Amino acid sequence: VNATVGRLLVAELLSIGSEITVGETRDTNAGELARSLARDGVRIARITALPDDREIVRHAVAAGLDRADLVVSTGGLGPTPDDLTREAIADLCGEACLVDRDLEAWLRGLWARRGIPFPEMNLKQAWIIPSARPVPNQNGTAPGWWVERPDGRIVVALPGPPREMRAMWTDWVLPRLRARGLGRPQITRTYRLAGIGESQVADLLGEGLLRAANPTVATYARADAVDVRISAIAEHGADGRLARPPDELVDEAEAIVLAALGRYVWGRDDDTWPGAIGRRLEELRWTLAVREVGTGGTLTALLGGASWLWRAEVLAADAPDALPTVGMTDDALGRVAADVRVAGASDVAIALAIAERGSDTAVAIAVATTTTTRVERRVAFLGGDQGRSRAALLAAAVLLEALRAEAREADLAEAGG
Ligand code: ATP
Ligand code: MG
Repeated sequence: VNATVGRLLVAELLSIGSEITVGETRDTNAGELARSLARDGVRIARITALPDDREIVRHAVAAGLDRADLVVSTGGLGPTPDDLTREAIADLCGEACLVDRDLEAWLRGLWARRGIPFPEMNLKQAWIIPSARPVPNQNGTAPGWWVERPDGRIVVALPGPPREMRAMWTDWVLPRLRARGLGRPQITRTYRLAGIGESQVADLLGEGLLRAANPTVATYARADAVDVRISAIAEHGADGRLARPPDELVDEAEAIVLAALGRYVWGRDDDTWPGAIGRRLEELRWTLAVREVGTGGTLTALLGGASWLWRAEVLAADAPDALPTVGMTDDALGRVAADVRVAGASDVAIALAIAERGSDTAVAIAVATTTTTRVERRVAFLGGDQGRSRAALLAAAVLLEALRAEAREADLAEAGG
């Protein structure tokens, strides 16, 4: 009789391998799995790295099952005696490992195909226990295990190599977990901000909003933006009936976030700077020319190799005739941008110059179109590489704002006749 757990709502992740606990291999598997599960509305209770030790692994899986509905491990499924994940799970289930005839035939076939004798050590990779189903591995010799416990909790063991683990997870494990009832339906929206620091964002949002459990509003300082992420799960009344759907909860929080921070928003969800700028340029059917001085090319690198970037010049600050410079007047800066536009045969140009000022970086930005020129001056936090990267972000923000203004005017002109 199965006293099954309901949906799989809470998971724990185990990264198994002494190479991780001695620091030779960086654990990327757990982060990838966590991201995938979180997207499906699963709460990750803990992520643990463990050495190849049968007793430690058995104990960790058992403890994970006490706290969570789902335990996913990676690593330790290789053929060598130090790969002990199978043995540890067998111990936990109180079952003995047996050779699965189908897996054995498949494994032997892999070697036969290459015309080399099968190393008997690899027979271990054909092991299974009665509670487990093998998870096929198209990219390696280590099948995984899918183990369903009598109470409905699930243990999944995947091999360590990311290429193998990833495919098995996406193609085989995830669909089955979903069919079994994975996570809570949730809705997430992310706003990407520029020109404001994370602490100022937190200040403007207020502690009440940032501490609420549902919807949750969280801030993340990333290299290219401060992200504000709003997510919600459905709210149920005491009688179990749906009280409020998640999109309603997200909409409500979103209205507060946009009222406080709307003017700093440059993108949504998975937007990138070249994505956001490219979208505007494509709407206008425009191309772009760039000249940057003293930055080492950070703006060009940020924009990437898009087809709308017709010409990009990177000048060293000490190069002869390296213009513009931060010391120029606004008029002169604007003229350089206009020249860059003409030289680049483009619809819009941006000219960027920087200079270290104390421990920060002074930034001068000019954007020229056929009809308008705008000049902005900023100070980027820190000097050196940090300042150069931040200068590029400031320039991208000024460019995007200029393109938005252009699009607004085009709309007005259209509306006017
Ligand atoms: P295989 O049979 O392919 O060896 P395995 O399950 O035994 O599979 P491990 O021996 O634990 O896997 O690890 C093999 C390789 O996979 C490691 O050398 C490492 O490069 C990579 N790897 C293992 N665990 C992780 C992890 N958590 N994150 C990223 N890479 C990992
Ligand atoms: Mg191994």
